[in-house]
Amino acid sequence: MLNIVLFGPPGAGKGTQSERLKSKYGLVHISTGDVFRALDPESDLAKLAKSYSDKGNLVPDDITIEILEAEVLKHPDAKGVIYDGFPRTTAQAEALDNFLAKKGTSVSVMLSLVVPEDELKTRLIERAKVSGRPDDADPEIIQNRINTYNNSTAPVAEFYRGQNKLSEINGVGTINDISERLYAAIDKN
Ligand code: AMP
Repeated sequence: MLNIVLFGPPGAGKGTQSERLKSKYGLVHISTGDVFRALDPESDLAKLAKSYSDKGNLVPDDITIEILEAEVLKHPDAKGVIYDGFPRTTAQAEALDNFLAKKGTSVSVMLSLVVPEDELKTRLIERAKVSGRPDDADPEIIQNRINTYNNSTAPVAEFYRGQNKLSEINGVGTINDISERLYAAIDKN
C-alpha cells in the first residue's frame, strides 16, 4: 500500500495537492479537517470538534484518532491513502503507526510542504473569500493555527525524519510546479 502523509502548515496547499495525487496515483484522500466539517452539525461530536476548530485549536487526540481510523476502515480495498492534516501530534503519529502495523502496512513517506509564514497568511486570507471557513477569515485565529502548527505539529516531521521517511518539498511556486516536485518524491520510493 502507498500510504502518504501530506504534511505542512495551514495554507501550505495540502488540500489542492491531495486532489492531484489522488487522481494520479488512484489513492483515497482522507482529510481529518474535511471529516470534521462534514459531520452532522447537530451532533455532539460536530459541536465538540467545532468548539476547537473555530478557535484554531487542535481537536483532542483520542477523538481525532478514532475518527481517522473509522474513515480508513471505510476503504478496505484502497491501494493507498493520502493522509492530509493527520497526524498533527506525535501521539497521533504513533497511533497511525500502530494502526497501520495491525493492517500489515506502514507509512511510505511523509511529504512536508515548506512555505514561509507571510505567504501562508496571504493565502489563507484569499482562501477565506471562497472557503466560507470562519477559521480562515480572522487574522488572530490564523496566527493561532500557525502557532499551534509550530508548537504541536512541526515535531511530527522529526518523528518521520527519525524513520528516514521525511521528504521536504518547496511549497512555493505554481500549483503544477509543486505537484511535479511531489510526484518526483513519490516516484523515488
Ligand atoms: P484543516 O482543514 O486541516 O485546516 O483542519 C481544520 C481544523 O480541524 C483544525 O484547525 C483542527 O481544529 C481540526 N483538525 C483537523 N485535523 C486535525 C488533527 N489531525 N488533529 C487535531 N485537530 C485536527
